[in-house]
Amino acid sequence: MELPGQAASYWTEISRPEFAPLAGGAKVDVAIIGGGWVGLLTADLLKRAGRTVAVLEARRVAAQVTGHTTAKLTSLHSLIYAELIRTVGETTARLYGEANEAGIRYVEQLAGERGIDCDFARVSAYSYSEDGQKLAAIHEEVEAALRLGLPASFVAGPPLPFAVAGAVCFENQARFHPLKFLMPIAAGIPGDGSHVFEQTRVFDVEPGNPHRVLTDGGTVWARDVVIATNLPFTLLGLHFARVFPKRHALLASRLAAGTLPEGMFISVDEPTFSIRPHPDPRGDVLITVGPAFKTGQGDTYAAFRALERFTRERFQVEEVLWRWGNQDYYSPDRIPLIGKLSVTTRRMYVATGFSAWGLANGAAAAQVLSDHILERPNPWAEMYDATRYRLRVTGKALLSENFEVGKGWLRDHVNTWRLKDVCDVSRGEGAVCRHHGVPVAVYKAEDGSNHYLSPFCPHLGCMVSWNSAEKSWDCPCHGSRFSAQGELLEGPSVRDLERRSEE
Ligand SMILES: Cc1cc2nc3c(=O)[nH]c(=O)nc-3n(C[C@H](O)[C@H](O)[C@H](O)COP(=O)(O)OP(=O)(O)OC[C@H]3O[C@@H](n4cnc5c(N)ncnc54)[C@H](O)[C@@H]3O)c2cc1C
Repeated sequence: MELPGQAASYWTEISRPEFAPLAGGAKVDVAIIGGGWVGLLTADLLKRAGRTVAVLEARRVAAQVTGHTTAKLTSLHSLIYAELIRTVGETTARLYGEANEAGIRYVEQLAGERGIDCDFARVSAYSYSEDGQKLAAIHEEVEAALRLGLPASFVAGPPLPFAVAGAVCFENQARFHPLKFLMPIAAGIPGDGSHVFEQTRVFDVEPGNPHRVLTDGGTVWARDVVIATNLPFTLLGLHFARVFPKRHALLASRLAAGTLPEGMFISVDEPTFSIRPHPDPRGDVLITVGPAFKTGQGDTYAAFRALERFTRERFQVEEVLWRWGNQDYYSPDRIPLIGKLSVTTRRMYVATGFSAWGLANGAAAAQVLSDHILERPNPWAEMYDATRYRLRVTGKALLSENFEVGKGWLRDHVNTWRLKDVCDVSRGEGAVCRHHGVPVAVYKAEDGSNHYLSPFCPHLGCMVSWNSAEKSWDCPCHGSRFSAQGELLEGPSVRDLERRSEE
């Protein structure tokens, strides 16, 4: 079964500068682990404040979750404000809205000050319902957002080429090209004692004064450490059990001339789809995003097919150009966890749980993290506090998610006898089976050769499953992902899947 489009993100196809790996060691004021949205913006702020920084990136900067995003800069996060007022109170909800509005302004200001041409444009964002079942919730959201001082209104007919029952509209939100914006930011970091190291994976941090950051290219000594790896690899702070991975399918399609809608849209119906036009001189592009599914648990082919159907039924698609997948970690109270890593660690910081709204939130995160390090007060630090639990709001979700993870882990380890004894895999596909009585993950390459791997994720030992649409091994517990040959792609693991003998 062929899927449409080239298997790559629309954003990452621009040419990008490369940064050399760490070779030996370095001493800096602040080590920033992860060169994505949060890591690079934090590094930029700290360098401007006179600190030396080292950004340590396992792969290429800005190429992981940030390089596969939808790139809406908005404080309208589906329907959120009425819920936040109910669950965490009006003051926290107001701070959340303010931080996100400030995040949008911050990106605009940086792009303006540095003359970065990143296709930044102010547009309206809409959360709409097609079938009208969520109309009452839409009206409630408008009221809640207005009460918090956000630029909300009810719109009966948002500018979409299909019938919609109604929408929340936030005016003056923004779209931009995330990599055209971030690459000049990254290029400005090296120099005067600061560095960006690509292809440099961090395995561990040994706390101390200074901390020792252990990487595959040597050790970095730093007084402060920021873990901006989307989900921390360290067990300290237990973030792996406090936020949960969900994955989405994305398509970028060329539409018939003159049919690109103006604005950014997300449906609030089930299943949820997101719509994000991007004017492109080579032909306007519409990015559509499919419903979220749990990493390692969904039918990935079905997700891409459903998204293609959704897109073709509603827009005049001339050609699907790109397709890709992306995942983020969801926080049970819907507010990211940003700040001190844990109550027991010193001068170590984290940002995670962006729930697929990490750009405006992430720009605010960079300010919160740098203010922690510079020992300055920040108006949003308490709202994002990464050591909070808010068990009244999050307890049920934390229990049920972790119960499912535990149950899955037990099942995978106890029930290995249920695995098929014959590893019968077609070319280009993978499966978990038993080989000589031992569980293995087998990938049969297009040339017919078999690659045998351990099916157990090196992070906490859950059994990976085959993602047929993206040709990867995905861990259903905490979202680590590996290539067909077992190379680590993303997630909290710091090691590849172990290779097994082919005999
Ligand atoms: C489908 C989808 C659509 C989205 N759309 C939007 C949107 O429209 N608007 C919005 O606001 N948000 C959106 N988001 C969310 C947003 O894109 C993310 O929250 C944000 O990009 C996360 O940035 P980050 O820096 O935390 O992660 P990343 O960009 O993934 O950066 C983390 C970096 O850390 C590196 N790393 C990991 N482990 C190590 C290690 N051990 N050593 C060294 N480096 C390491 C990784 O390689 C990576 O480069 C979306 C998310 C998804 C999944």
